[in-house]
Amino acid sequence: MSTRQHVEILPPHPLRAGYDRSLERGSITDAFQRRLEPTNFNPGYLGALTERVEHALSRDPADEAMRWRLAFLLLQNNATAAAVERAGELLTGATLPQARRLAELVAGIRSRIDQPRAGRRVRRVNWSINNRCPMSCQGCYNPFAAEQIDLAQARRIVGKLAVHGTTDLVLAGGDPLLWPPVFDVVDHAVASGLKVGLDTTGYTLTADKLSRLRGLSSLRLPLDAVTADVQRAFRRSPDGNLLNALLESLALCDAEGFDRVRVHTVASAANLHQLPELAAEVLSHPSVAQWVIFQWWGRRASPATVRRLGVEVEAVRAVVEGIRRDHPGREIHLAESTERELLNWMIQSSGQVVTFGSGPEEEFILGNLLTDEVEEILTHPILDFEAMARGIPVTPGTVFEPSAAARG
Ligand code: SF4
Repeated sequence: MSTRQHVEILPPHPLRAGYDRSLERGSITDAFQRRLEPTNFNPGYLGALTERVEHALSRDPADEAMRWRLAFLLLQNNATAAAVERAGELLTGATLPQARRLAELVAGIRSRIDQPRAGRRVRRVNWSINNRCPMSCQGCYNPFAAEQIDLAQARRIVGKLAVHGTTDLVLAGGDPLLWPPVFDVVDHAVASGLKVGLDTTGYTLTADKLSRLRGLSSLRLPLDAVTADVQRAFRRSPDGNLLNALLESLALCDAEGFDRVRVHTVASAANLHQLPELAAEVLSHPSVAQWVIFQWWGRRASPATVRRLGVEVEAVRAVVEGIRRDHPGREIHLAESTERELLNWMIQSSGQVVTFGSGPEEEFILGNLLTDEVEEILTHPILDFEAMARGIPVTPGTVFEPSAAARG
């Protein structure tokens, strides 16, 4: 019998949990802190805000916080090489921690700016194809877009990726299974020669849906804890029975003989001690081919939550190494947060393309696949092809070939 309850499907979440409420609503500083909200993170909003910041800076050119804001906006909104240079100038001699962090990013971008872009390929693409989710995970990484493309637009984007030579496509959300056209998108992408992974909460997974997903190279399902309270607290689900619901999805895959499940676990201070026990659970499922443990990264979390859930990478490494020793021969990956910087493309549910995996609030708009060609977006100065060559392919048991990665 199904343990799943009817759960509320949440609208696109605001990007961060910890807005400074003392800022005057509508002021530049408030508009800046809200720039990554789903309705705001687009060229129109960022462009208008840039003009306001430029104007404020013209009245007080020494205002370091305002210089940092302007540099950030220049980088985030389809930056050109000239915009990168200007951002670097604005950040010269930065003393504020956030400005120094951005100056480091700019130094990295400048060091890559003369690297040849022609002939580069983006092999793996993450696509947040649906902007709804039944969960609200602590520090959710997803910069949701308010707009939702339709099937015809999605097929056009798949076509562009396939022609370009992308090999690995991850369909994520929100939860893509809450968007009915996703099954046709999967079929179209697989028929176009792409290896497709699908990243779902599993909440609405049924045997019928699983049978329509046979072409997937991997189906990614979450599981973070062995106790209901820890599991529910992390995913902030309205469902008190969440842990059983997640286990039910795995059991369904077992029963249906689907053997390409990749379990996603987020390791934080709340569940680190449970991971060895969780390993026994995860790896007991015949459907599980791969387990990926992500070091929690409070991308959208408040400072208080970061203090509560943040975990040092050394601590996660030690636990994962112990698990690997206890389960030899199993495919277990650790995704450390620093390795995810500028890692990959993410297509949003609007077709907008952003970097995926920088620091908090550090998404950079690269273009939009409804209007731009893949090759145009690849000329973007912010892209780091070496970082994009890292990561885990969508097919369990495979690795990206480093020499091919260097070629792009
Ligand atoms: S399941 Fe994914 S998209 Fe949904 S809240 Fe969690 S991290 Fe965000």
